[in-house]
Amino acid sequence: MPTAVQEEWKDGFPFIGNQRILDLLNTKPVLPAGPTELLSDYPAFERWLIASGTVTFAEEKAVLRSWRGSAETQIFLHEVIAFRERLRGAVVRIEGGHLPTDGFLSELNTLLLRHPTHALVCRHGKTLIRQTRDELSQPSDLWTRLAESTAQLIVEADHSRLRQCEACVLHFLDTSKKGSRRWCSMNICGNKLKVAAYQQRRRNP
Ligand SMILES: [Zn+2]
Repeated sequence: MPTAVQEEWKDGFPFIGNQRILDLLNTKPVLPAGPTELLSDYPAFERWLIASGTVTFAEEKAVLRSWRGSAETQIFLHEVIAFRERLRGAVVRIEGGHLPTDGFLSELNTLLLRHPTHALVCRHGKTLIRQTRDELSQPSDLWTRLAESTAQLIVEADHSRLRQCEACVLHFLDTSKKGSRRWCSMNICGNKLKVAAYQQRRRNP
């Protein structure tokens, strides 16, 4: 039977953010060996895109495979990592009760304008639904999904529930009923903190 620890990690990446773009932000965790870049090369990024559900269809996974080794892909990954670090700044600002800077919003709006989402009307059983479509013909087309996820987080998520783990660098959106989540996960940091508090009490009864 899979344990909770396994469910929080998929293909070597933590998925504790409750929002896709936070899971992208969390691809540089602090592991026992120190801060670790999990998007170390394109194959790793390809695995993250699939594990995170950013790319789901078989045809699109084949497109991702066809980009392996291309210079354009390297450049794109480099840009995504740079964006991830600016996103970190925006998320930390929101957690501190501020809106992201105008510079960040302007960068995001440029991405949204350059990589628009197309909404189509499709049959879904006996009903109709609106579905977004975006073609993947070059790596930078993935910006459509990443920028859309970013917009969704900063506009639609409850800012008071956006938090950084009390014990590590991971960020999450607290979707718990009580809204009192403090750790990235009980398995990763919660237990660690509880043990530390217990030892502290034993030392200073
Ligand atoms: Zn943590």
